[in-house]
Parts: sequence; structure tokens; C-alpha cells
Amino acid sequence: MEKAINFIKSVINKEIIEKRIRVYGWQKEYEHLLISSVSKFLFEDFFIIDNLTPLTNENRPGNIKPKFYITVHDTGDSDITHTALFWSNTVKNEYWEQGKYACSYQYVVGNDGTYQQIPDNEVAWHAGDTTKFDYALYDSNVMGSNPNPIITISSDGYFEIDGKKSQILAPRVKKEKDGKVIIDRIPTTSDINDQGILCKLIDGKYYLGEVYFNETYMLIANRGGNNNSIGIESCINENTDIYYTWQKTAKLVANLLYKHNLTFDDVKQHHYYSGKNCPQTIRMNGFWPHFMELVKAEYQAIELLKEGYKFRLINRNNNILETGRVIENKDIVFSVEIIKDNKKIILDFNL
Ligand SMILES: [Zn+2]
Repeated sequence: MEKAINFIKSVINKEIIEKRIRVYGWQKEYEHLLISSVSKFLFEDFFIIDNLTPLTNENRPGNIKPKFYITVHDTGDSDITHTALFWSNTVKNEYWEQGKYACSYQYVVGNDGTYQQIPDNEVAWHAGDTTKFDYALYDSNVMGSNPNPIITISSDGYFEIDGKKSQILAPRVKKEKDGKVIIDRIPTTSDINDQGILCKLIDGKYYLGEVYFNETYMLIANRGGNNNSIGIESCINENTDIYYTWQKTAKLVANLLYKHNLTFDDVKQHHYYSGKNCPQTIRMNGFWPHFMELVKAEYQAIELLKEGYKFRLINRNNNILETGRVIENKDIVFSVEIIKDNKKIILDFNL
């Protein structure tokens, strides 16, 4: 019981976040009053609604690839009718009001549920890095012991790891327009996307991932998005409870990390593979570190649920839901019931 009690105490927020955020849809931007839940763990059962795309679709090529990443997107779409089911069906039908829909992603999450269109182990079209290159690691010839080194680019265009020059040339900053080269220069550190490039420390040596220069977003980005990641869209349609969608997305991410034996470092933004500003609303409002805290809380919960613990939230003042979502940020009083075998403990909270 001790570790389940510690878990609950660690995930209950000391304070409710209440912040006006800007939400970015292609039709319109809007302001949204974001109110967090009482807990980083969402008190809700996890389940996926299958809505698989037929293999005859062009957006389901069917190739099987090993998965090294989970990729988080947002729909960038404010239309109130564009729910998770809407996007799931759009992938499935390869068609929407604007005509042919060529994209695909394994999952889409919204207030209305968590839907799956493409099996985890197949290729999907969501990351903008093509499917011509797979996840790969290259020997940098730099030794070290720092699992999170800083990657820079030397004045002659080679990647440096914690200041040590590697043998790997960074891709040139090059752009063509109408068949003419308009930019062609040695890259600098500021040309790297803001989630960095893949670097793995294996037996005291660093290995760098497959990278390229993305002409659309003018940044050095990573390969392996379409082929080697599991893509998740999250809905930001207007009138939706965005924080609830983030929590449901975090629960899905944690379950996929657990299922595929991946680490928190393997959760990437769409930005990582192309330089695109996606998931834009999380990025622009500075919520990525908070989102990852939600993922970590959900991951801990999975381990406890597997051990047979059950958690239930009991509202004592009618201003929160049993999921932990806050309706009114005032006099929040609730209890959490922890059950395992025939033991039961009730923890009381007053925020
Ligand atoms: Zn995206």
C-alpha cells in the first residue's frame, strides 16, 4: 500500500493551474481558459476504440517497421465538429470536405475518445520526413559518458558532442526555388530544430541518428517519423476541454511506452522530424514539460494497476468530476480510495 499512497500523494497537484492560453487552429486562433485537474493522473479507464483503415487505402501502405518513437501532434483545427471521431473517419475514408486526405496516423485523441486507425507496427504518413529513410545510428567517433550531451555544429560544418568534434558532417543549409539554388551554406548550431537531434551513448561512445535539412521549415531534423514512430493526433477544436485531451493523450503515450518498451526520451514532437511548429498549442504555451509530467504520472499508474491496485476519486464538494477534472476552482475537497486485494485506504485532500 505504501507505494500506492506515495504515488497518489505525488500526483495530486498542490495548486490548480488556471491560465488563459492561445489555441492555434488554421481557421482561427482563440483564447481558452485552461484549468488543470486535481491530479496529474487521470482517474479514467484506458481503452482504445478500433476504427482501422482498410489496407486498400493509399494512406495505409501496410509496411511493417520497428518503432523507436512516439510522436505527438495536434490537429491545428478549431472547427467544433472536427472531433477525434471525425479525424479517425477522415483517415479511414481518405476523404474530407477539402477532398482527398493523404495523411494517416496510428491514433487520434479528443474529448470524445481515443481512436486507432493504423496498427502500431505499420508505417503512417504524419511526420513530414518521407519514408525513404529509416531510423539509423552512425558512429560519431567521440567517446564520453554524458547520456544527455549538447550537440553543436563546428565552424566547418561537423556535429560536435559536448564540444568534441565528431566525424559526421551536418547537412548543408540548401534551398532550391524554380530549379535554382537560392541558399547553400555550411550549417550552424541554430539551424538544428529545437528538440535536437538523436544521440545515443552506447558503451562509452556516441552515435548520431539519421538527419536531414528540411527545406520547408529551414531546420535540421531527424528521420524515422513516418517509418519508425507511432503517430498520435490530439484535437484542439473550439469548445473542447483541451486539458482533458492532453491527459487522455498522455495516458495513451504512457500505455504505448509501456507496451513497446520505450523510454520517456523516445516521446517526440512532430517538430523533431521536420521543424514544423506542431503540436503548436502545447509548444506556443510552454506546456511540453508539463505534458511529459502527465505522461510520467500515467506510466507510474500503469505499473501499479498491473500489480492490482485500484484508484477511485470521490468528490466531496461537487465542483470536480470523478476523472479529477475541475469544474470550478473553489473549495476543492475530495478523497482518493486505494484498493488492493481486501485492503482499502482512503486519503483526503483539500486544495
Ligand atoms: Zn503534426
